[in-house]
Amino acid sequence: CKTYGGGGLFFRAREVMAAQDVSLSLLKGRTLGIVGESGSGKSTVARCIMRLIDPTSGSIKVGGKDIATLSQKDLKPQRKNIQIVFQDPMRSLNPRIEVGESIIEGPLNFGVPRNKAMTRARELLELVGLPASAVDRFPHQFSGGQRQRIAIARALAMDPDVLVADEAVSALDVSVQAQVLDLLAELQARFGLGILFITHDLGVAAQICDDVVVMQYGRVVEYGPAGQVLGAPQQDYTKALIAAAP
Ligand code: ATP
Ligand code: MG
Repeated sequence: CKTYGGGGLFFRAREVMAAQDVSLSLLKGRTLGIVGESGSGKSTVARCIMRLIDPTSGSIKVGGKDIATLSQKDLKPQRKNIQIVFQDPMRSLNPRIEVGESIIEGPLNFGVPRNKAMTRARELLELVGLPASAVDRFPHQFSGGQRQRIAIARALAMDPDVLVADEAVSALDVSVQAQVLDLLAELQARFGLGILFITHDLGVAAQICDDVVVMQYGRVVEYGPAGQVLGAPQQDYTKALIAAAP
C-alpha cells in the first residue's frame, strides 16, 4: 500500500492512494503488461517493486519474499535481479560519464573485475545494435533511441531475471519504438528475461504482452491473458479504456 502526501494532519485529506492490493505474477521469459490511465499507479507499482520508494503500509513481496522492510544491504541481491528502464534513458545514464563507465558501474559494485566488465559492456552494446566503440563516447553523442538501447545494455549488464520497462518506448517515434520492442523480444528470447512492461499504449501492450493488468485509482481492475483483457474485456472500465484509445 503506497500513499503519497500526508505527513501533517492538515495534509491528510490530500493523501493519494497510489497503489493498493496489487498482486502480479511474472514468469521467466514472459511479458506482463501494466496498462491504465495517467495517474493510475503504474509507476508506483514499479517503484515499489524496485524499492525505489518505501510502501506506506503492508508488504511488497517479490519472489515470495517481503522486501518492504529489507535494509539497503539486504536489498542488494534483488537490486541486481530486477533492473529498470525508464521513459527517459538519462535517468539511468550520467551525462558526464562515458557510456562504458555507466554500463560497468553495477557489475563493478558486485565485484566483477574491470576488464571483464568492460569486455561485457562492449558485447552488450553490439547486442543492442550499437558499435562496441560506443563505450568511449558520451550519452549526448547518441540519439534518443540509441540512448534507450544504452540504458537497456546497462540494465542487462547485471544479468537480471526481470526487466521493468516503465514507458520505455513511449518517448520514441513509432519506427524507433518498433525497433526497441523487437530488441526487447530478442533479448527476452536470448536471456529468458521476464519483462514487466508498463505502458499507457494499449496497442503496444497488445503487441508484446502475454498477460495484461489494467489499473485504475491504484487498484487492479482486470488481469488476464492479453488477448482476453484487450480483445474481450470483462470490466466496463477496460471496455471504456479500449474505446477511448486512439
Ligand atoms: P503515468 O501514466 O502518468 O506515468 P502512473 O500510472 O505511472 O501515471 P503514478 O506515477 O504511479 O501513475 O501515480 C499514481 C498517483 O500517485 C497519481 O495520483 C500521482 O499524482 C501520485 N503520485 C505519484 N508520484 C507522486 C509523488 N512523488 N508525490 C505525490 N504524489 C505522487
Ligand atoms: Mg508512470
